[in-house]
Amino acid sequence: MEQTQALKALLEDQSLETVLILPHNMPDGDTLGSCIGVYHLIKQYNKMGYIVLNDDIPSNLSFLFEGELKCVKSDDVSDVAFDICIAVDAGETKLFEDREPLFRKGKHTVCIDHHKTNTHYAALNIVVVEASSTGEIVYMLTEELGCTINAQSAEGLYAAIVTDTGSFRYSNTRPLTFSICEKLVATGFDFNRLNVEIYQNKSYEKLLLLNRVFETLKLYCDGKCAVVKLSKQLIDLLALSEYDTDGIVEFVRDISGVEVVVFIRHLYDHAHKVSMRSKYNFDVSEIALAFKGGGHTKAAGFKSDDTIENIESKLVEAISKALN
Ligand code: 5GP
Ligand code: MN
Ligand code: MN
Repeated sequence: MEQTQALKALLEDQSLETVLILPHNMPDGDTLGSCIGVYHLIKQYNKMGYIVLNDDIPSNLSFLFEGELKCVKSDDVSDVAFDICIAVDAGETKLFEDREPLFRKGKHTVCIDHHKTNTHYAALNIVVVEASSTGEIVYMLTEELGCTINAQSAEGLYAAIVTDTGSFRYSNTRPLTFSICEKLVATGFDFNRLNVEIYQNKSYEKLLLLNRVFETLKLYCDGKCAVVKLSKQLIDLLALSEYDTDGIVEFVRDISGVEVVVFIRHLYDHAHKVSMRSKYNFDVSEIALAFKGGGHTKAAGFKSDDTIENIESKLVEAISKALN
């Protein structure tokens, strides 16, 4: 890749010492695992990396951060002048808006991402839409730069790939995804622990509470569109945290005949977060773009200050039109 050479020039420039590594807000496995891969990559060029995140790390991903590896908050690095700022797995700056000033202050800005709606907001944009995950891109960059991948980095990159591909079930999975994973697993990280931590680690009480969320499930468009909702009242009643409902939207997609799923949930104040998923050919990123969001063909989203009921009716209308 031509961009790899541009990145190489930045990394080989020994006058550039500090690197800001930014995951997106409400971080997932891809953004966190890819940041770990980037952290270990830049270390090989004698740079000092800081993964800066103000949100909490989901409890099923905290095992990735061990030893010297940690996330720090914006306030902890307020006196650091960053030479290189790398945003990871974020299609637009809104997805790290709390840290955008920090990103913009850097001498050189880089974006490593795979979203087709990426807005190319950095000076150097390494955007590979065909890649299953940003983790896959970080792997390729590391290989092209002739750098090594240690077990901790491999664990992060594998976590990135396995979560963004839904354990290799989604159509973003390509032959290369498997060859990369073969090499990652061969580094010898604890494969069983990774799977138990990420997938077999749910609280019994929280799992039972999800019944109440499934009760809101409605089908539209002859069963092709499913909508599931999580209001502020239900969040408060069930004492759910922002990550307790992870996986719900994918679970609803498992219903036979459902082509598009919409999950609308309360975020904070009047803000709602919308997640959409599709199964075959329906492009949810087009719908998300119309609502000022973005994403991938089969996984996209946006934020809105509208009421849950309004979001639901506007989306069902847009989806119903697009399905016909
Ligand atoms: P999720 O539903 O898991 O939050 O998001 C699904 C996909 O859509 C992710 O890859 C995410 O980056 C993207 N996405 C969600 N919300 C937004 C948004 O407001 N803007 C953009 N550009 N992408 C979004
Ligand atoms: Mn992500
Ligand atoms: Mn991703």
